[in-house]
Formats: sequence, C-alpha cells, structure tokens
Amino acid sequence: MDPHPVTGEPFSSPVPPGAGWPGDPASAETPVARTAARVRTLASSAEDLDSLQARISVCRACPRLVTWRESVARSGRRASFADQPYWGRPGPAFGDPDAPILIVGLAPAANGTNRTGRMFTGDASGDFLYAALHRTGYANQPTSVASGDGLVLSGIRIVATVRCAPPANKPTAQEKAACLPWLRRDLELTPGLHTILTLGGIGWAGALAAASAIGWRVPSPLPKFGHGVQASLERPDGSSVRVVGCYHVSPHNTFTKRLTPEMLDEVLLSLRER
Ligand code: SF4
Repeated sequence: MDPHPVTGEPFSSPVPPGAGWPGDPASAETPVARTAARVRTLASSAEDLDSLQARISVCRACPRLVTWRESVARSGRRASFADQPYWGRPGPAFGDPDAPILIVGLAPAANGTNRTGRMFTGDASGDFLYAALHRTGYANQPTSVASGDGLVLSGIRIVATVRCAPPANKPTAQEKAACLPWLRRDLELTPGLHTILTLGGIGWAGALAAASAIGWRVPSPLPKFGHGVQASLERPDGSSVRVVGCYHVSPHNTFTKRLTPEMLDEVLLSLRER
C-alpha cells in the first residue's frame, strides 16, 4: 500500500474499484467486461454516463493491455513515482458531463493516466493540454497533477479512443476495435454534444468510426486527419456535430513546435462556435 499523493489514503496498485480513490466511478459491484463481446453488451446497456464510466474503468477485455497496465502499476513504475499508488485501470472520462464539446485522445500513458486515473493527468502531454484549457476558459486551474487536486472543467469533457495504456503507445487494430463500443455509447448518451476535437489521427479515425457505427451520417470518402481539418456529421434526428482535427499534445509534437501553445489555443477557442 502506498499513500495517494493528495489525500494520503493508502491504496494498493492497481486500485480496487470502490476503494475510495478520488473520482473512481466504479464500485465492487460494477460489472466487468472480460471479452470484446461483453464490452459491446455492457456498453450498449449502460443507461447513463456515470454507469458507462464505471464499466469502462473496470474493463479487462484486452489481455495484452491488462497485463501491461497492471505490470507497470505493480513493478514498472517510473523511479520518480515509485512511492505512489498506480491506478492501473482503464481511464474513465474526465470533465463536464453536460459539455457540448468532447476531446477524443489516443490512449492513456503508462505513467500518466495509468498512474493518476485521470485523463492526460501527470505527464507532459497533460501539462500542455490543461495549461491551454485554463488559458481558454475551460479549466479552473492550469495544472492537473493528480485526482483530487481540485481541477474542474466547464463546457468540455475528455475521453480516449483506447482506454488502457498500450505498450509503446501503440494499440493494435484488435484493441482499438474492442474498445470502440465505449465511445459509441458515449456519443449516444450525449445528445447535447455539438463539437468533437480529436487529438491525433487515431482519435480522428475512432470518432468517425464510432459515429458511423451508431448511424450518424459521415462524409464519404472519409476526410483525412489534419491539423485544423473539419468534418460535419449528422445524427439520425438531423442535428449536426462538427469534428475538428488537432495535432496530438504529445512531447513529440510540442517539443518540436509542430504544435505550439498558440495553435492549440486557437483551436480550443474555435470550438465554442457552433
Ligand atoms: S482497451 Fe478498452 S476494451 Fe480493451 S481492456 Fe481497456 S477499456 Fe477494455
């Protein structure tokens, strides 16, 4: 058992559902998906976002990713975090449940979300993203260091295409397909959504695939991902949802200035327009 960096409460790693971790959406009774077929069943039967996030956060459908996330949590911790408990579970959504804007990222990082249990929290990608969300008025503070640190988002919510940390940040096609029903159901449960921001090409492809799978009209041929590229999707009821592409906030892009703070601010500010 190691103390949580904010609350000081002791937790084992990975963190058992319902053990008191700040922001843990699950309990010991939350149903667990152990196969891709069960992901589809549990996703489609989730009645609201809360139960969807709870089910996501205990999912065990991808054996390679479960082994990886839990081995990092138990024995593969970064030296600077060796005295902290690691979440070691899939990353649930974070942010405003009524948000009209959804950010879709790639997947949790092994020592970021996989440690903290919150999207983009505890690594360089998150430092870059949350500073921008604060500058543009979506976040009440510029940093996101740990669950329970007081961060609140307004008007925006964050999810990932793949909810478990993959080795080398590279999920397989099978893992992406297995996880997609969670995103599909998320889109079905958020009728007030008007804009999706995808960070990187995997988020772009995942958002379009999820929308298409639930009967939304998507452009044909599918537009290619690019920074600033936009596509218009249409729900069966005729309402539209805009998808906006943005380079991922990974150090690979931010350290090389492929994505600058000014570029990200400009994209984030544009999301409020319908
Ligand atoms: S990647 Fe998605 S489907 Fe696979 S175990 Fe994680 S949450 Fe479940």
